[in-house]
Amino acid sequence: MIACECAVCSSTDKKDKRLRSSIMVESENTRFVIDTTPDFRYQMLRENVKRLDAVLFTHPHKDHIAGLDDVRAFNFFQEQAMQIYANQMTIDALMREFAYAFADKKYPGVPNLDLNTIGLEPFSIGDIPIIPIEVWHLKMPVYAFRFGDFTYITDANRIEDHEKEKIRGSKTLVVNALRREKHISHYNLEQAIELVHELKIPKAYFTHISHQLGKHEEIEKNLPKGIHLGYDGLTISI
Ligand SMILES: [Zn+2]
Ligand SMILES: [Zn+2]
Repeated sequence: MIACECAVCSSTDKKDKRLRSSIMVESENTRFVIDTTPDFRYQMLRENVKRLDAVLFTHPHKDHIAGLDDVRAFNFFQEQAMQIYANQMTIDALMREFAYAFADKKYPGVPNLDLNTIGLEPFSIGDIPIIPIEVWHLKMPVYAFRFGDFTYITDANRIEDHEKEKIRGSKTLVVNALRREKHISHYNLEQAIELVHELKIPKAYFTHISHQLGKHEEIEKNLPKGIHLGYDGLTISI
């Protein structure tokens, strides 16, 4: 956190250096990211990403959309619009917050975005089938996504039973665990562990971790079997 001098923010452990939450999903012939955080540009440079087919959005909070302008580089090299997938609420927010990209008379070089509105029906991007799942972030509906045996949930603190059914059977779950103390719109550590156990997921990684959770090394060694803290650059094969 900017200007913070806590043990996590001043740690020299690379796993305590956390950028904003996002994942990249890739198959043999398809690659997309979930959310474009304010750190999107650096994350793409760090991972040396040369091609990106699409962006899926979970919800319109700024820490999940702010980096969208930087898909311009992929527009330039791929010579095509970036495919954007999001629910109506998020599409509306993108059109508002990146109005210059949707203006009638565009300034040259603004991002070229092809908006695809999704609901809760399954769809595919390239060869990757996707099941959207609705979860709650206080009073905001947020989309989680399941790909085969893998489910990604960020920014949630409540899931209705019928949506939980869509997660059941996943072999790997990524879910937000903000800190130890309760929070108004995110699962805390205890609630995230509870969810993993309730859904009987054999392997889970926690994400959207605040500096308030504590140091990676210390938290990691006390987690139940099969549960880990995610960290920047972590790669999972599914
Ligand atoms: Zn949020
Ligand atoms: Zn967030």
